[in-house]
Order: sequence, then C-alpha cells, then structure tokens
Amino acid sequence: MTHDIVQLLSQLVAINSINPDLVPDGAGETEIAAFVAQWCRAAGLEVEIDEAAVGRPNVIAVARGSGGGRSLLLNAHMDTVGVAGMDHPHEPEIKGNRLYGRGSYDMKAGLAAILMVAAQAKQLNLRGDVIVTAVCDEEYASIGTASVVKRVHADAAIVTEATAMDICTAHKGFIWLEIETQGKAAHGSEPSLGVDAIAKMGSVLVGLEALGRELQAAPSHPLLGAGSIHASLIIGGQELSSYPERCVLSVERRTVPGESPELVSAQVQQILDRSGNADPQFKAALRTLLVRDYSEIAADAPIVQLLQQHIVAAGRQPRIFGAPWWMDSAILSAAGIPTVIFGPGGEGAHAVEEWVDLDQVRECADILLKVVQDFCG
Ligand SMILES: [Zn+2]
Repeated sequence: MTHDIVQLLSQLVAINSINPDLVPDGAGETEIAAFVAQWCRAAGLEVEIDEAAVGRPNVIAVARGSGGGRSLLLNAHMDTVGVAGMDHPHEPEIKGNRLYGRGSYDMKAGLAAILMVAAQAKQLNLRGDVIVTAVCDEEYASIGTASVVKRVHADAAIVTEATAMDICTAHKGFIWLEIETQGKAAHGSEPSLGVDAIAKMGSVLVGLEALGRELQAAPSHPLLGAGSIHASLIIGGQELSSYPERCVLSVERRTVPGESPELVSAQVQQILDRSGNADPQFKAALRTLLVRDYSEIAADAPIVQLLQQHIVAAGRQPRIFGAPWWMDSAILSAAGIPTVIFGPGGEGAHAVEEWVDLDQVRECADILLKVVQDFCG
C-alpha cells in the first residue's frame, strides 16, 4: 500500500483503463479495479467488487464507522477516454508541479485523493461510514454509478471531478429526442403522387431554431443560465430519383433544473402540432431516446457548507459554480443523495496533453479528510 498520493496517482495513470464502449479496443476497468481493490484491502477497508456488466467492475470500499454517525460517499470514475495522438499516455511524467498522462486530470487524481482519504479515515475510528465508489464507464453510459446506487446509500456524496478547487453545486442534464416525418414514396416525376418527407422537416427545423432562441433569451437558473436545443443528425430519402418517404432528425436538448422530460417533449410536440395545423399533409412522430437528469444541491446543504468552510480554512476563496457538462453526480442526486463536486485543477481532459496540478491534488485530499472527519466523526 502506497502512502504517498503522487506515487499512488502515478500507479493509477500507468494502468490503461480506456473505456471499451468509447474506443473499441479499450482495455476497460478490470486491471485498475483489481489494483484499487487490492490497495483498499491493504488499507484495511471492506472491499466489494460490483460488476455493473460482464467485465465492467466497480470497487466499493468502506471505512466502516463505529455507528451513529453520518455516512459520506466519495465517488470517482476509473475509466478514461482514448489516447489517439498521445506519445506515451500511460507513462506518467512529473514535470515541476504537474503530473502528465491520460486520466491524470480526468479523473485519477480525484480517485487517488478519495482512496487516501478513506485509508486515513479508517485510522480515525469515526462514527459514520466513509464509502469509496471507484466506478466504471463514466465516459460512456455511466453504468458504474447507476449500479452503485442500487447497492449503497449515504447521507451525502462528493464527486471528485476536477473543479480547480472550486465548488460545483449544479450541472445541466440532457435529453435525446428523435423526430420522424412521414412522406409518400413516388417516382420523382410524379409530384401529384409523392410527399417529400425531407421537405416536411423544414418547418420543424425552423421551429427548433426559434425554440432555441426563446430558451436562450430567458435564462432561468442562477448558475446554469438557460437550457438549449439543437439538431444533431438528419437521415432521409431512398435515392436521388424518388420522393423520400421518411426523414429522421435527432435532436439534443440540454436542460437546467426545472425543465422536466415532459416539458421538453411538450415544447417539441407544440412545434409538430403547429406544422400539422398549417399543412394537412404533415405527419410526424416524436420519440424520447434518452433522459439524463440535471444535478443540483442547495448552497446551504450541510456538505456544501462544510466543504466551503474547509476550503476557506486552507486559504482559498472558492467559487460556487454550475457546470454545463454532465457528470455522475446526477445519478447520485437522483438516488436521493445530496451530492457536490470538488476536485483539483489541471488541463486537458480528453485532449492530447493532459496534466494535473500536484499541489492541488494534495490539498484536495487534505480538505476532503477534514470534511470527512467533521461529517462522519
Ligand atoms: Zn471525468
């Protein structure tokens, strides 16, 4: 077992854990999960391997409390994105105060920090449980955290995604929709027989663009601003010489707190209804493909207050902010666990050059340990 956080982080970065659903020959999380589980056992933690799917393990490690205290869940993902264009992605390199390598910043630094904190918490004989969930598949479909919340619950959670020592209390959700317009296939020379499904999508696209402008003009959330909508993919037609019988448009809607899946689909349905009222030949269907919740925690929630207090005590003035991108915190929040996001700084998530600030990694672990002591003690 390593007692030095930089050494532990180096060991984690050295293990290839590319998400295999993102990159076809990705190594997956089996090797890194075995390392994490072994490390946690050596630290005296209770360890359980939770297979979210075949070959996709989570590690759940608990510094069991003596009883009667609040429990805190610390969550970090083990998987990374691909390494195209990188020279030696899995040979961690320390230059000055930076550690370079794939996953150093997103988010093996956060993983190293919570492992160190749980190991130290074990020595402190706290009353509440400290639960580490090192999860798979955050970079693709989040089956890891989705599986974890079926097994563990806690009074609060911290996801240690990189925030440059600021406090992230909210992030946007997203919803994928599909709109299909129906036409009538016919020979291209027979306008009286054919109905052009692609042309019928025209008024839908105009309506979506207008809805996007309306949303942007009325920001409703103090940290996240406005929701948004955009067209992503469009497919239609059989061949050049025929009227197309169908056209399928994929649409992405990014949501802010207060925007439910029902509201989102009603807004788009209204566009389809308007087109239908204006054009008796217009026929369309709307489907919701995927819903990913937004995440939000009140700034005066105990875990946020405690975190803020200890960051300030460390001499910083943390910003409370909302992130536009999606994180596993939404799954924890939806499971009824008040969840905040806090981690170190660096650069290059998903980029060719990725590094994390080692002073901030150490500082992050120190702050988290104090939060754990106060929350679970
Ligand atoms: Zn991440």
